[in-house]
Amino acid sequence: MYLEKELIEKIRESVLLQDVASRYIPSLKKKGKNYTGLCPFHKEKTPSFSISPDKQIFQCFGCNTGGNIFTFISKIENIGFIESVKRVADIAGIDISNQENEESAVIPSIRRINKYAMNFYHAYLLSSQGQAGKNYLLNRGVSEEAIISFKLGFSPDSWDRLSANLKNKKADLELAEKIGLIGKSQKYQGSYFDKLRNRVVFPIFDRSNNIIAFGGRAISNENQPKYLNSPESEVYQKRNILYGLNFAQDEIKELDRAIIVEGYLDVIGCHQNGIRNVVAPLGTALTENHIKILSQLCNEVIMLFDSDSAGINASLKSIETSKLFNVEIKIAVLPQDDPFDYIQKKGARELMVIIDSAEKPVDFKIRNVIERNRGKDNVSILPELFEIIKNISYSADLTKSTEAEKSSYLTKLSQTFKINEEAIRADYERFVKGEKINNHGKSGKGEILSYETRAYRDLIHLIIHYPEITGDILIDFSPEDIRDPLSKSIFAAISKLYNKENELRVDKIFDFFPKGLEMDFLNSTIQKEASVEDPKAAYKEIYVNLKLHNIEKKITEYVDKVKNSGSDRLEYLAEIEILRREKEKLSNYIYNRGSVRNT
Ligand SMILES: [Zn+2]
Repeated sequence: MYLEKELIEKIRESVLLQDVASRYIPSLKKKGKNYTGLCPFHKEKTPSFSISPDKQIFQCFGCNTGGNIFTFISKIENIGFIESVKRVADIAGIDISNQENEESAVIPSIRRINKYAMNFYHAYLLSSQGQAGKNYLLNRGVSEEAIISFKLGFSPDSWDRLSANLKNKKADLELAEKIGLIGKSQKYQGSYFDKLRNRVVFPIFDRSNNIIAFGGRAISNENQPKYLNSPESEVYQKRNILYGLNFAQDEIKELDRAIIVEGYLDVIGCHQNGIRNVVAPLGTALTENHIKILSQLCNEVIMLFDSDSAGINASLKSIETSKLFNVEIKIAVLPQDDPFDYIQKKGARELMVIIDSAEKPVDFKIRNVIERNRGKDNVSILPELFEIIKNISYSADLTKSTEAEKSSYLTKLSQTFKINEEAIRADYERFVKGEKINNHGKSGKGEILSYETRAYRDLIHLIIHYPEITGDILIDFSPEDIRDPLSKSIFAAISKLYNKENELRVDKIFDFFPKGLEMDFLNSTIQKEASVEDPKAAYKEIYVNLKLHNIEKKITEYVDKVKNSGSDRLEYLAEIEILRREKEKLSNYIYNRGSVRNT
């Protein structure tokens, strides 16, 4: 295909790079003269991707990518220059169809054949002859509407019904064979047979609604294999395609979240029950490309597994690749059934509760180790858990550094096992160095501190070493807010001193505590050195994380309530929704400030 220079210029001028780019970069925002956001071409936590609206070019300081709108589209869609011009023309609504010369390319022919086959199977399903296929779907619980919108079909129980039709239409039979619709007969030269027979047919679309392949499911047990799918071709590569994405992509963007299930029917079941941000890989584990595609649409991907799924472990491995992209992956496992059966029995809201309680992969792995070893001495499984923590190579949470992430897991472990936290940290250090863990977290007699208590004590530590930020902290906290009695009384003293003198002289705090726990704590705090680069930022981090922590705690409480509730569940669900939004706002706030942590 050839495009006139003038036409290319016209296409270039009819769209704005920032508008197009924002479809792929949810975080893109105007900052000063430019637009900035998280780079779609490399993984990062603070935005280094920027667009100059005047020059209509983009640039990433992180990975040194840059260019104009066509460069952007061809990089992000993995397509060539001409293809990218066509995409942009599409976006701009400029019709370039009359520019196309007689296409010699094979792709349009494949598309035509596939489209013909799809309509053939679909019409057959809706005809009286296709009743068996339709009944199968209806009995499984697929709705009439879904049959129509997903263009589901049924292949006749006949040797060559489709082949004969294709032959009549003078279709390229060699090509139809290559894409797996028909096969060449060994016995009769030049004759073809249908590959899909007596099967329910699921057409597979690309993101632009082109039909690119088929999945066929047997409706009787004699018919093996159970699933028969198109082979890969010029238009169909499993690693690049997610079933249902053409139907789900708008909703995924809108909700900033994608849900991944395992099968066609799971996708259809969710969609027909109003959960439309759902897709499935096609007989493979989730690939790096799948994650890349989704990361351009949303910031959160939830993998929803069947109760007895065999695919979890393979998927956990593929999740590692997500660190390359700006997306957080979480895992949810159904207590019973697959998503399709579950949503039929329990409804969409119940399924959403499971989805909302999805865990980060590390949490998921840790919980599995603990559950698998139930009844065993808790500390004997520490090495296995330490190994998981040690292997955390990135923080899924954009506001946290990897070290902070590891540290928070050690805190959680100490709480779960009711082991002194200092001791568990010491054990972990030993484990990392390859030394034997000999005290099994049992040395040290200190109390187990809750997350909140630790946060308040960290706050005091910060004040003692950087008294100049006391004023800021007192705006947000008053002693009454604090539930840890030790922090509370020290905080009260600090507040009193500051309010009187409008500054804080640390030595004066000791006047309040000539002896006792407070004095011990202050002494050890002073001895602990502090090396914070930006105390205000460190404070903000404690503050926001405390808030997030409290929201998460409440969400967990409500999720438990929903699981055990009767008629009042709707109220709890509404409450969860409000909290989720609050949490989201807070996360956005951290992100937009950009200053909370710059790692
Ligand atoms: Zn980059």
